[in-house]
Amino acid sequence: MPSVDLSKQEIIALLETEGERELKDLCRRAYDVKMENVGKKVYYRGLIEFSNVCKKNCYYCGIRRDNRNVSRYCMSEDEIVEAALWAHGCGYGSVVLQSGERSDAEFVDFVERAVSRIKKESGGELGITLSLGEQGRETYERWFKAGAHRYLIRIETSNRELYAKLHPEDHDFNARLRCIENLRDIGYQVGTGVMIGLPGQNVEDLANDILFFRDNDIDMIGMGPYIPHKDTPMGESLKWGEKEKRTWLELALKMIAATRITLRDVNIASTTALQALDPKGREMGLEAGANIIMPNITATKYRSQYKLYEDKPCMDENSMMCRSCLEARIDSVGEEIGYKEWGDSPHYFKRMKKE
Ligand code: SAM
Ligand code: SF4
Repeated sequence: MPSVDLSKQEIIALLETEGERELKDLCRRAYDVKMENVGKKVYYRGLIEFSNVCKKNCYYCGIRRDNRNVSRYCMSEDEIVEAALWAHGCGYGSVVLQSGERSDAEFVDFVERAVSRIKKESGGELGITLSLGEQGRETYERWFKAGAHRYLIRIETSNRELYAKLHPEDHDFNARLRCIENLRDIGYQVGTGVMIGLPGQNVEDLANDILFFRDNDIDMIGMGPYIPHKDTPMGESLKWGEKEKRTWLELALKMIAATRITLRDVNIASTTALQALDPKGREMGLEAGANIIMPNITATKYRSQYKLYEDKPCMDENSMMCRSCLEARIDSVGEEIGYKEWGDSPHYFKRMKKE
């Protein structure tokens, strides 16, 4: 079933749900919509955070260019391919290559080679998602031809004024929109998302974010709570206690549930940032309507240098530990893992039929 035409007021009412019982009921409703439209399976995307080198300076992000407390790394092509093939061997259907933003020719070639090798060496079986920020159309085309078929680029917020406050002047919201258009036009399954609980963001903004996803026919949603990082302009002064964590977690769960109820057939990720707020955050995300999990398969030695926010979980664990820990967690909420399946967004196939 395609999206339903909830009004902005109706979405706001869902986001303003108060009380433990009421939140449970909201999640139950979203879970039923998930069962009806995408089913009970959770799909894995093994996440390879292959480089923290970034030319941008987003005010919220721990690996922003001007953070001198980060030691910069870039995994080698062999290390990336090896991590991807490990995921393939474990039956994960897809991998996500994510990094800070670079658009120099050397980087574009490097990604192109890594994507082609993963495609070839997995016998075409691994689905490949990229999350490498804003790039020109030609670059997106090259990576698509090399074998990537999904791309994630968050709009961070659909409120343009707020977007301007989160980024230095050389960031342009319209440039993000052009990226989304280009990606869709080339044939990618397109994912976007926002941060939830940003300073200055209100429930109307969040409702508008959901309407943005709907009006732009987005296939995949990756969103999670905003969590401060002490070495960033936005995180320096923020105090983050247990009470705030609870409120932010609940808001993020309401946002997942409201998105599922409105959009119905899209893929929605239960992101690691949820787990930073509660050890069971990702399972709660599944119960609120999410159907995708991105286990971290980055080599442990690099993880502490890809710290986007404080309290990022699983910093000292290896991919094998993440794998068994997750299996138990998913089992605990009664869901199945779609091993060896791409688990593409049903919305994408319906969109393709319409076009
Ligand atoms: N550089 C690429 C980009 O910006 O699209 C991909 C990597 S970037 C680290 C991925 C996402 O991390 C961003 O879209 C942003 O939403 C999220 N992120 C960064 N800092 C964060 C923070 N402090 N709290 C929560 N999410 C954050
Ligand atoms: Fe770089 Fe992405 Fe972080 Fe912005 S959010 S500083 S582009 S890694």
